[in-house]
Amino acid sequence: MRKNDGLLVKHEELQIPEIASAHVQVEELSPADVQVEARLVDDVCTVNGNVRYSVTYNCTRCLEPFVAKQETVLFEEFTEDARRVNDDVHLAPQGIAELDPWVEQAIHLDIEFFPVCKSDCRGLCPVCGVNRNHQDCNCDVTTIDPRLAALSDLLSTDESE
Ligand SMILES: [Zn+2]
Ligand SMILES: [Zn+2]
Repeated sequence: MRKNDGLLVKHEELQIPEIASAHVQVEELSPADVQVEARLVDDVCTVNGNVRYSVTYNCTRCLEPFVAKQETVLFEEFTEDARRVNDDVHLAPQGIAELDPWVEQAIHLDIEFFPVCKSDCRGLCPVCGVNRNHQDCNCDVTTIDPRLAALSDLLSTDESE
């Protein structure tokens, strides 16, 4: 994006495939629809707008893929004056602000770590593995902690010796 006097409106589609590979729970990411306004005031260019995209997540309970539409707000400030750069104001060499890395960062922060396909997703049966949203089973799931199961195996072996 080039620095300009006054207001500048920009609309772009940003391809962000590497974000999908950085998150195991993300199956696929659509191109991001980035819509921003940039305003130059007193040598600082303020960029704000919205980033819209859809994510195909793998549900962390039932492992089924589902699509979520997400939107994140973008607000960044840039300057070409190195003396004015700080935690909030980024350097824009020759007045050219690289917006894409900040869009990517905003999306990274917005990705859900434990996505669920629906709030009442019943997940997989820990014993037989059926998707309990689609199918019921009669498994006994009272001892589901594998560490405890291993320990009780160990104890019963000791007793038999
Ligand atoms: Zn689910
Ligand atoms: Zn089961």
